[in-house]
Amino acid sequence: MTPAAPSKLALLGATGSIGQQTLEVVRALAARGHQIRLITLAAGRRVEELARLAGEFSPQLVAVAGPREAEAIKPLLPPGIELVWGEAGLQQAAAHPEVELVVNAVVGALGLRATLAALQAGKVVALANKESLVVGGELVLAAQTKPHQLLPLDSEHAALAQLLAGIKPGELVRAWITASGGPFFHLPSHQLAKVTPQQALAHPTWKMGPRITVDSATLVNKAFEVIEAHHLFGLPWEKIGVLVHPQAIVHAIAELVDGSQLAQLATPDMRLPIQAALTHPARLPGPARPLSLAGKRLEFAELPRDSWPGFWTVLEAGREGGTAPAVANAADEVLVEAFLAGKISFTDIPAGLAEVLARHNPISSPTLEELWEADHWAREQARRFVQVRQRA
Ligand code: MG
Repeated sequence: MTPAAPSKLALLGATGSIGQQTLEVVRALAARGHQIRLITLAAGRRVEELARLAGEFSPQLVAVAGPREAEAIKPLLPPGIELVWGEAGLQQAAAHPEVELVVNAVVGALGLRATLAALQAGKVVALANKESLVVGGELVLAAQTKPHQLLPLDSEHAALAQLLAGIKPGELVRAWITASGGPFFHLPSHQLAKVTPQQALAHPTWKMGPRITVDSATLVNKAFEVIEAHHLFGLPWEKIGVLVHPQAIVHAIAELVDGSQLAQLATPDMRLPIQAALTHPARLPGPARPLSLAGKRLEFAELPRDSWPGFWTVLEAGREGGTAPAVANAADEVLVEAFLAGKISFTDIPAGLAEVLARHNPISSPTLEELWEADHWAREQARRFVQVRQRA
């Protein structure tokens, strides 16, 4: 018998793209008789939407960004719901005594502290928050109080988790994650400099938030995912590979010593990895569309060494470790924002990343404090890069 899946949930980042899709899965599972109770809900600034969700799901606690948002949501909340705010509030939502599973879909560095608080409180954490493992990988691994406390909440890592569950470490040659390549993969590199934010935001296969959509187009997101896989599965760097696969149907492949390869295939739909985390380790019927392979063409290519510099730069930062991935993440956030605001070009994103990382002297085994210092430093450096490019 499979053990019962945890059914008492904290949803951090409830009004974002992953948060909304998590709630779609919760509704769809409930309609099929599998009830998941929302114990806490946290969101930043979209208070009206959060209040509406509180009305629908009757959580015990609601967390918002700050006192102003708390003031705004107070009259909209149904009676009897505890209201908290700020970073401490987010951590309260994560570590609430009744919660069993925390879905951390917070966007940004705040998510790392919430992950640490949840792990220290003994919760299982499903991670959609990139910063938790990209920025704070070593701290997050050290904060676990029991085995199997982390679950991936991303298509590639959810696929890998399913594949690796049946494989002994010595049997694995390489774990491959796929990359759709984004909207510009086949564009000649001289045209990349001219792509617009609108073009970058039109991702061919996945529906995601703006930053991750741009990160997918630069392939920086894929480097972040390699870093996450390294921490999540304890895989050495040379055992993680990336294959470009535009159809986004195969999400991960396990290459084995006997020459076999096992793959996980599914329609590109974030609700599937979300559901895998919510019902782990069980499989239940859910809202994702079934996949029909007949008539489909599946293509794979290796990522060329001489293009997609954002990927290679961030991967190098990951391998370097310490504060380097935190610097890559923070600089990337600033650069993506500047690109979306029309201040720099698409190819300035990898150029800025390379410049900021080249100037950085990484600290190994950093504390949380040192990670924030590196984060602030990187943002400052990236802003300077943007100013120089704007003047040019
Ligand atoms: Mg992904």
